[in-house]
Amino acid sequence: MAEFTMELNDEQKEVRDWLHGFAADVIRPAAAEWDEREETPWPIIQEAAKVGIYSLDFYAQQYFDATGLGIPMAMEELFWGDAGIALSIVGTGLAAVGVLANGTEEQIGTWIPQMYGDVNDVKVAAFCSSEPDAGSDVASMRTRAVYDEAKDEWVINGTKTWATNGGIANVHVVVAVVDPELGSKGHASFIVPPNTPGLAQGQKFKKHGIRASHTAEVILDNVRVPGSCLLGGKEKLDQRLARAREKAKKGGERVKNAAMATFEASRPAVAAMAVGTARAAYEVALDYAQTREQFGRPIIDNQGVAFQLADMRTSIDAARLLTWRASWMAINGKPFTAAEGSMSKLFASETAKKVTAQAIQILGGNGYTREYPVERMHRDAAIYTIFEGTSEIQRLVIARTLSGMPIR
Ligand SMILES: Cc1cc2nc3c(=O)[nH]c(=O)nc-3n(C[C@H](O)[C@H](O)[C@H](O)COP(=O)(O)OP(=O)(O)OC[C@H]3O[C@@H](n4cnc5c(N)ncnc54)[C@H](O)[C@@H]3O)c2cc1C
Repeated sequence: MAEFTMELNDEQKEVRDWLHGFAADVIRPAAAEWDEREETPWPIIQEAAKVGIYSLDFYAQQYFDATGLGIPMAMEELFWGDAGIALSIVGTGLAAVGVLANGTEEQIGTWIPQMYGDVNDVKVAAFCSSEPDAGSDVASMRTRAVYDEAKDEWVINGTKTWATNGGIANVHVVVAVVDPELGSKGHASFIVPPNTPGLAQGQKFKKHGIRASHTAEVILDNVRVPGSCLLGGKEKLDQRLARAREKAKKGGERVKNAAMATFEASRPAVAAMAVGTARAAYEVALDYAQTREQFGRPIIDNQGVAFQLADMRTSIDAARLLTWRASWMAINGKPFTAAEGSMSKLFASETAKKVTAQAIQILGGNGYTREYPVERMHRDAAIYTIFEGTSEIQRLVIARTLSGMPIR
């Protein structure tokens, strides 16, 4: 186990500075343009691929960093640059993690390279779980996958929504119901390979923020995928379903859900994105407060402004510490006995929303215009309290974990 330290090691500092350079020189200058265009920033993804940031190797290196800080540090820097563009860069990694976590070695080797494409022909991937009637309530998912034994194929039907990169992805990872009796334990994940007939993009959403990131519905109409596209394979699925049925028969026994543990480990990554956006807005506000003069002195000379900045920075640092703690716990296999991953996501996302609003206030009229980046950062920040589990769902998870009670 790595020794406790509050400092990044030399290698991490080097990676952080390199990422910061890319965020400052490539991402930030392009942010306003792609926010207005509301399109996937393919040229920026390609730039990221050229320097090695858009690749499984990079993602895996950060993921397996023994201190646990690789991913939060990388997310913070990229999202400091711009949230919409950064999500376009890391969105594929989020889908790839689904395959890494549940796929066989063969599936990982076959599909992950196709998710990224190559430097001259970059591709993206999508993870499709949410549905119009199944957002927070994942168990009410309706997309159905039925096994056609004669052909060794799965037939998938349903409508997914809110899919980041949905419809434009080369590879879609789709979660579907294989046993409706078992609720969320009767779900399985499938790879839908490139150009599979029956998969189509539905409406593309026009969003409040993170507008450079593509979000759309995905329609699955008699989509047939080979048996080999079931993540983890049929044998493992059958064993898992048999165990779940056995437990269901015993009656209502509360089973520790492996998916919950996975969420606790992945939520700090979203928390770190929020820290990046909050820090970006705080820095703009600090700089502005030191240079903008009213009543013959910089506005930061007023406690009313200076104290806001003090509070902003304190919350951001607290959010980062919660995020690093949860990431450290995840890599060291510590049990999340107080839902520390959810705690980090809850606090960091609420901090990002608040701090970006404060930044607008400190910039006054300028803060409210698109001449300055803080209004965009505030629009972007609103996503963090919604995706990967809303703030209310984080509170539910924390409260249930603390009390052991089925709080609703
Ligand atoms: C830009 C964007 C990108 C996304 N990307 C993806 C993606 O790539 N893949 C994917 O699968 N999904 C994605 N999502 C979906 C996202 O995870 C869901 O929007 C989120 O889980 C909330 O679901 P919902 O929108 O249906 O809201 P609902 O579940 O309908 O919630 C509405 C409100 O009710 C509250 N609420 C619901 N239940 C409770 C409760 N029990 N107690 C208290 N309050 C409650 C919620 O907190 C919320 O405030 C994305 C969403 C957005 C907006």
